[in-house]
Amino acid sequence: MNDTQQPYRILLYYKFAPIANPEEFAAEHREYCKNLGLKGRILIAAEGINGTVSGTVEQTEQYMSDMHANPLFADMVFKTDPAEEHAFKKMFVRFKQELVTFRYDEELDPNVISGKRLSPAEFHEQLQNEDVIVLDGRSNYEFDLGHFRNAIRPDVEAFREFPEWIRENMADLKDKTILTYCTGGIRCEKLTGFLIKEGFKDVAQLEGGIVTYGKDPEVKGRLFDGKCYVFDERISVPINHTEEDIVVGKCHHCGKPADTFINCANDFCHLQHISCPECEEKHSGCCSDKCEELVLSAR
Ligand SMILES: [Zn+2]
Ligand SMILES: [Zn+2]
Repeated sequence: MNDTQQPYRILLYYKFAPIANPEEFAAEHREYCKNLGLKGRILIAAEGINGTVSGTVEQTEQYMSDMHANPLFADMVFKTDPAEEHAFKKMFVRFKQELVTFRYDEELDPNVISGKRLSPAEFHEQLQNEDVIVLDGRSNYEFDLGHFRNAIRPDVEAFREFPEWIRENMADLKDKTILTYCTGGIRCEKLTGFLIKEGFKDVAQLEGGIVTYGKDPEVKGRLFDGKCYVFDERISVPINHTEEDIVVGKCHHCGKPADTFINCANDFCHLQHISCPECEEKHSGCCSDKCEELVLSAR
């Protein structure tokens, strides 16, 4: 089925633009989104907006045209995916101090300082240059499900841990060309600004992120191995649409290749882990023997 035949759509978008009264804007936007019938998560800060929502084709179309009518968001890029149903259960619109939480004292305004923006085709070409350093701008568990070939796996569980991790692990790479990427591009907007401030000389980012790379008709996601973790009910999406598509995730229990994330069946745990179908059955959908004991004793 193509985009137009699916009844729903999932939008992913962000824009760094100064919002005068962000708390008030968030409250109004919440009402507006609820009235429209959208579901998802939107963050509003003085520095801009970051959202992912689902709705019918008509609802999402209305949302995009209303947002584009606001001069602040006139050129905001929406990444869209067709869907059979909503990808969220509720609609959250929250005011926050910053759009992405980053443990760094100085201001990082992507409109002032950020890395060179590479299109999917440009990024793809650069990836094949053996001299470049490819840094995954996401957390370790996202990397483990899928990543660009030869990328560095930052051992961080949250984005705010990046400044410290980079200082400890990449200090000797400041003269190299650094390519960064993340899911939709927003984390790289901050990450590349930070790298430049830290003294890295040549820093570039994948514009539109992994999801945009996967939609490029020429590149077809070729150098992305595995699946891309996403923050909605789909949990992951395919990116590589070539014959080179492989599974890079590993089952949490047996280590065999697998790329399905499940939430531990123990209600007090809910640890998200990759499991092969056999182990999911064998361990009753749990992450550990301890959790399985609890679940089985409650039945
Ligand atoms: Zn397994
Ligand atoms: Zn568990």
